[in-house]
Amino acid sequence: MALSALVKKLLFARQFEIDNGRVNMLGMRKVIISPDVISELCSTDSKTVYKAAKSALKKDTSHLKDDMGVTGKQLLDFSIQLLEAYGVGNLQLINIELKSKRAMFIVNDSVFAKKGGCGFTAGALAGVLSVMFDSDVDVKETMCASKADHCQFEVKP
Ligand SMILES: [Zn+2]
Repeated sequence: MALSALVKKLLFARQFEIDNGRVNMLGMRKVIISPDVISELCSTDSKTVYKAAKSALKKDTSHLKDDMGVTGKQLLDFSIQLLEAYGVGNLQLINIELKSKRAMFIVNDSVFAKKGGCGFTAGALAGVLSVMFDSDVDVKETMCASKADHCQFEVKP
């Protein structure tokens, strides 16, 4: 069984458990669902999915920062690994400028690109970055693997 380095660490530290109808990750209850659910919701109302993903990832990232003491570059790395563990795809940070609140990510092998649903990834990144920047920001997908070889996301200026 192949597991990401983060998931191995979480399992070792008993921070990832599936038992009795409960999935717990880092003290937060999660649910494992088909990406088709998110793609379907996105095709109905992409804005609401974006907002919900942003709000959820803001909570997750704040939990890591405030309750688990993860800060700075570690917080960003951890959040990126967490999003990968959630299964959205292979995330790469291209650049981040904390002062001017700019950032660019690319996602290879997105679970959503072929079916629609990249609004979830954009919202999730917006949630993470809003905590990183300590200021509310929005993220826009500027290129999609449905038309290119990867998805690209940037903070909206
Ligand atoms: Zn995309």
